[in-house]
Amino acid sequence: MKYNNTDGPISRIAVYGKGGIGKSTISANISAALADEGYSVLHIGCDPKHDSTRTLLGELHTHTVTDFFRTSKIQTDYSDLIRIGYNGIACIEAGGPEPGVGCAGRGILSTFEILKRMETDSSRYTYTIYDVLGDVVCGGFAVPLRHGYADLILIVTSGEYMSLYAANNILRGIHNFDGNIKRIGGIIYNSRGGAEEDEQVRKFSVAVSLPILVKIPRSEIFLTAERHSKTVVAAFPNSQETVLFRKLISEFFSTKNPIPRYRAHPLEVMELESLILGRDISGYTSPSHQVPVNFRPITNDTDNGTVHCTIPQKPSLFGCAFAGAIAVLSQIQDASIIAHCPSSCAHIVSNLLVSSQNRDRDKSADYGKQTSFSFIHTGMDEKMMVFGGIEGLKKTIIKSVESGNRVIFIVSGCTPGITGDDIVGCASEMSQNLGIPIIPVSVNGIGEGDFSAGIMAGYHASLQLVKQEAGKNERSVILVGEKILANNTTANFNELSQYLSTLDIQVSCRFLAYTSVNEVQSMSEQSLILPVSSDKITLEISKIISEKTGSEIFNHAFPYTFNETVRWIQDLADRFRIQDKGSALIARNEKIYRKEIALIMLMTAGKRVIIASSGPDISWVLEAVRECGMEIIRAGYFSSPYTTKNNQKESEPSIVMDYTPDALYDDIKTYRPDLVLTTIWLDYKKADVRYGMIPFCPNVGFFGALSSMKHWASILSGPVREGWRNDL
Ligand code: SF4
Repeated sequence: MKYNNTDGPISRIAVYGKGGIGKSTISANISAALADEGYSVLHIGCDPKHDSTRTLLGELHTHTVTDFFRTSKIQTDYSDLIRIGYNGIACIEAGGPEPGVGCAGRGILSTFEILKRMETDSSRYTYTIYDVLGDVVCGGFAVPLRHGYADLILIVTSGEYMSLYAANNILRGIHNFDGNIKRIGGIIYNSRGGAEEDEQVRKFSVAVSLPILVKIPRSEIFLTAERHSKTVVAAFPNSQETVLFRKLISEFFSTKNPIPRYRAHPLEVMELESLILGRDISGYTSPSHQVPVNFRPITNDTDNGTVHCTIPQKPSLFGCAFAGAIAVLSQIQDASIIAHCPSSCAHIVSNLLVSSQNRDRDKSADYGKQTSFSFIHTGMDEKMMVFGGIEGLKKTIIKSVESGNRVIFIVSGCTPGITGDDIVGCASEMSQNLGIPIIPVSVNGIGEGDFSAGIMAGYHASLQLVKQEAGKNERSVILVGEKILANNTTANFNELSQYLSTLDIQVSCRFLAYTSVNEVQSMSEQSLILPVSSDKITLEISKIISEKTGSEIFNHAFPYTFNETVRWIQDLADRFRIQDKGSALIARNEKIYRKEIALIMLMTAGKRVIIASSGPDISWVLEAVRECGMEIIRAGYFSSPYTTKNNQKESEPSIVMDYTPDALYDDIKTYRPDLVLTTIWLDYKKADVRYGMIPFCPNVGFFGALSSMKHWASILSGPVREGWRNDL
């Protein structure tokens, strides 16, 4: 076998291996053998079991770095953390959180930070040995792989499949970490004495191109030594096993002739299975050639009012589920939100909310002011990340209640998703103790989905406030699904509520926009649900509200064009048997509209248009384009996870459902349209055409589309190449 090697001094050695395979026994014996040779040795156990140094100290090291980190207020006295064991070996144990809570990997990261602060400079020791659990090679357990920590990596394995599997995983971690750097010394084969075990380890060693440095035979003297809390090197200095350890360090750890080191060449799991278990993998395709996995869509368990999210179905283009949930819940202005997360996440979300409040132009009088809801966060710090943050969360809940809050939502970021904090249990316990609604929203940051999954989770959580009322207020409605981050939310609400008030219809709850606990609680008193848009979330949540409150769902989304608005008013007037009022309202606005559209049509009539959307429903654009007398020569949706493809009316022209930017450029060349309306930026040089953007959140009402039409007319009135007239 030919190996590429790297020369260089060795002083810091990371020993990786599966838990229970004997890596602590082996690393402790290596440390003991080095100390016997007169070297100064620092031995660091990086396993939450914190028993790596037991045989060096003669007892368990009870002062782990993570315990110190958990309990110390002023972290300056580190003296208990380093204990001196066999032959002067300095012993440190990283330790870890309780099983089932916190994050052990994060604990290792913190340990190394503290070691830095302790100035346990490894250069003060001839050798530093890290004994690292290798079952999981997450960011934390990979710290000893980092440059500056280990210059030699040894892998301990037996011939058992799971041990070889873990060894291969460690190689994968090293490969992902620094694939091109040669730092692996080889394999320490710790035999369990199984049949064909030698052959299994040999095959693995050849397959991953690593040498077997030593075979440690199965021997009773390891157990005997451990019973006396000693290493074999200390307890049986003349044994064959001790000779093996002495040989290992003299042959391979010599500072004069350092051991050759190699790159990691991990096997694919199926290759490993074939090699060790003899599985037939003839039909197997390497993952890099497989088609992408189709994740299951987000599902909602509507029975108990909680949302069950799955792996994100869509890229988190507009933010994480944490941000989405907070964005909608912040609209219940007298409720309090506790964001269970580090300060950075809370900061990002509060900026998003304040800037959207400032963008909402009809709210601009409040420019620069904080939104009025109560928003606090637990400020998860390093300790909470390692040990879990439930205690910190409880303290924050109490603080929130003490400051007068009577309805609390707890929204979890990514970090509690990793530490496994049980916010549902915590909310239930604190709710009982404090006698107020405390509602958990376990979105776990991006872990449970994208911004829209968070919006849905926020909606579900707020529905837990709804009370069942006996009667209905016939002229009272709920608006559902207003786009709270848009710049025209308030303007659109003002426009439509003006029409509704003319029709003697009262908006009793905006679900969820600028609303209150009381309005949400009394939703079941309202007779009708008015969905703001026809997108999936709005329709789905309207249905859920209807099931919960018994309120009817109105069959139209908010209207954007004149004709849509006429139909919306007529159907509402029919529903409430106020046709006269409806007709009068339409007639008043029609006069103004006709005047305006006549002026616009001077510029738009007869013009030829291509329409292309990367997501939003374009039915209103088709109607608006026709209302101002233009001809549609192509309309299509680009394929995207955000495309709304299911809203087309049957009477629409055939819309291309898998339109592509390339096809759009081809159509522009072929048909030379007067105008392209799209949601994406066009390459002006490539397109050489006038184009205008389709707004994601259009204005509503009789004159809603008119503002877009005026804009299109102004683009048409300029020359093609005059860039400033286009939306470039
Ligand atoms: S994705 Fe996670 S880390 Fe980023 S802001 Fe959201 S909760 Fe915080």
